[in-house]
Amino acid sequence: MVNLNLPLKSIPRITPKYVRVLEKLGVFTVKDFLFYFPFRYDDFSQIVSISEDYLNQVITVSGKIIKTKLNRIFRRKMSIVEIIIGTENNIPLKAVWFNQPFILETLKEGVEVRLSGKLILDGKKFSMSSPAWEKSSRDMTNTGRLIPIYPQTSGITSKWIRWQMKMLLEPLGHPMSKWTSDVLIDILPKEIRKKYNLYDIYTTLSQIHFPDSKEKLIRAQKRMAFQEMFLVQLKTIQIKKEFAEKNSTGIKFDEKLIKNFVNHLPFKLTNAQRKASFEILKDLEKPRPMNRLLNGDVGSGKTIVSAISALQTISASYQTTIMAPTEVLARQHFESFCEIFKNYDIKIALLTSSYKLISEPKANQNLKIENLKLIENCKLKIENYTRTIKSTTRSELLTSIQTNEVQLVIGTHALIQKDVKFKNLALIIIDEQHRFGVAQRATLQQNIPRESAQQVPHLLTMTATPIPRTLAIAFFGSLDLSILDEMPKNRKPIITKIITPTGREKVYNFIRSEIKKSPASTREDDRSSTRGGRQVFVILPLIEESLSESMIDVKAVKAEHERLSKIIFPEFKLGLLHGKLKAKEKEAVMKDFSDKKIDILVSTSVVEVGIDIPNATVIIIENSERFGLTQLHQFRGRVGRGKEQSYCFLFTAENSVPTSVPTRIPTRLKILEKTNDGFEISEHDLKLRGPGQFFGNIQSGLPDIAMEHLSNVKLIKFARAEAKNLLENDPKLKEHPLLADALKKFSEKIHLE
Ligand code: ADP
Ligand code: MG
Repeated sequence: MVNLNLPLKSIPRITPKYVRVLEKLGVFTVKDFLFYFPFRYDDFSQIVSISEDYLNQVITVSGKIIKTKLNRIFRRKMSIVEIIIGTENNIPLKAVWFNQPFILETLKEGVEVRLSGKLILDGKKFSMSSPAWEKSSRDMTNTGRLIPIYPQTSGITSKWIRWQMKMLLEPLGHPMSKWTSDVLIDILPKEIRKKYNLYDIYTTLSQIHFPDSKEKLIRAQKRMAFQEMFLVQLKTIQIKKEFAEKNSTGIKFDEKLIKNFVNHLPFKLTNAQRKASFEILKDLEKPRPMNRLLNGDVGSGKTIVSAISALQTISASYQTTIMAPTEVLARQHFESFCEIFKNYDIKIALLTSSYKLISEPKANQNLKIENLKLIENCKLKIENYTRTIKSTTRSELLTSIQTNEVQLVIGTHALIQKDVKFKNLALIIIDEQHRFGVAQRATLQQNIPRESAQQVPHLLTMTATPIPRTLAIAFFGSLDLSILDEMPKNRKPIITKIITPTGREKVYNFIRSEIKKSPASTREDDRSSTRGGRQVFVILPLIEESLSESMIDVKAVKAEHERLSKIIFPEFKLGLLHGKLKAKEKEAVMKDFSDKKIDILVSTSVVEVGIDIPNATVIIIENSERFGLTQLHQFRGRVGRGKEQSYCFLFTAENSVPTSVPTRIPTRLKILEKTNDGFEISEHDLKLRGPGQFFGNIQSGLPDIAMEHLSNVKLIKFARAEAKNLLENDPKLKEHPLLADALKKFSEKIHLE
């Protein structure tokens, strides 16, 4: 008798060599093995009699071996197996395999075989090169059907896996199975399966490994996707419930304060901003920790929404912290908030590894924080009311945070989590959600050092790019959502163009004319300057797919900088930015760019060019086919921040393509020409490239099958409804021990907590 939880090594058929390979893949038990899924299928399901109609198609043919031959080419250390089979309509078929002489041990003259492969003509003879094969006497495992192809690993072939899979799977379907039946019991409750017409687990596994048809395969995959999504939803609802039982500080909504603040902004809030701000302020009032995601496009104005929540919190005498993923972004926030709160008696700290700064209002030192309100006669004051920014030591800074002398702490998340002990932190704001794991976020909220451990701070996370709605519901179901789906009115949509190689010169000319244009007065607070017109970004992708820059990438960006400065734009000032520069150097380049001392900034894609440069109106992205749509859209968001018309030019690889051949522009890039709507773009990207990218470096750990179905809104909805329903009746899953167990394992795997 075999238990499904048995380790694979206890199965004699599977030799230690294979056990080792499988263990490396994370497959330890029989059950693990059954859940080791193919990543694609070869369609060999067409069993036919040979004819010219099938030329160049993948088909399956059966017949008797008439002749076999082994050719060895010693000079090239090669062997070629050649067999001829006679098929049923007496047309011979030749099949050849390279370097697999052992095939002849099985494929002898007179043996009946099935071959699956592409039918070609070799001279005048029908032929197949390296077809899949098996004896006709055997079940169709490797030919004649949809054939599963497993992720490739050295030392293990898909053929071997198919064989083992069949041996393990088949007995489970037998009604008199001696296998312990309790292990392959379905974790999906029967009622749910019935309601949505989902396969039971045995049928699901059989159809995933050995699909009888495409339809059945899809049905089996759907059932797996449903199961995964159901678990995700159970978990997120549980997390949400747990949070709802925790205590937090209720912060009363001070309508006058907020109205006053909003009325003095240099712009009118969009309706979406209003709505989101209101949702957040309402949440803050509750004595339960807020856990909200502010989901919005680049430039949709998330900063001001977060500022409103910070202002409300601080005015109630509590502290707020803003965490950014990089130093540059933290500094940018520091500058923005000093500006936004310039008329308020709020002390703001910047804490990164290079900076320890405190910014405080110069005048009115005696203004009490409790009496915080807009300083009267705002207009007059703005002119002579400045902030003093002083550099301090780390320990001094930490002390002033601990004593509540500083009310707003901005920094990189690593440093804030490590160093800072707050006096009375009530609100955490995280910028750029996707760089944090869902796991990290929840622990952060509960574990950040603070005096009163019972009070969990409210948490507002902001996305760097719009997350597709379905994805947000699926994965961030434990959060409440506020969506900024409306751009400030003063924006002109960015004009985007895909540029073929011949268009490059034209673009360069266009850039010349843009830089020579008279300086744009783009915003009320525009940093005025005397030199230069508009400014330009040039973005280069990483050459190798990796998370950080290699020296090759730095070299490439240096070379492009050189080429542009010496040959193309000798009359302009160019700057260079890449990840291997020191923080201070990066800082200096960005500052020069924002001070308009640089006309064109050449940069690698990993460098955060998040600083707001309203005067930059052109962005060029080289090798744009290397990027995802969402990423391109995000780069594009670097321009279009001022009142002037902005442009984005997408270059595609040209050097590798001979000019006589028309360059194939990836059709997906065309979406960017058509729309500026970040949500629309990210939905497209989700369908094209899957959800992984929206999680940044953090793997969601979800099986590909569930991932593929994430754009299936209905499935997510149903899974969520069923999860809710189940938990209402059985909150601790006491009546569903199997499910509870699966959920525990599942959440360890996908790090939802
Ligand atoms: P993001 O959502 O990408 O963080 P920001 O908050 O940085 O966007 O806002 C981008 C720019 O738009 C900033 O310069 C900000 O001052 C400006 N802005 C924000 N809201 C509005 C609005 N309602 N009307 C006009 N400009 C706005
Ligand atoms: Mg932002």
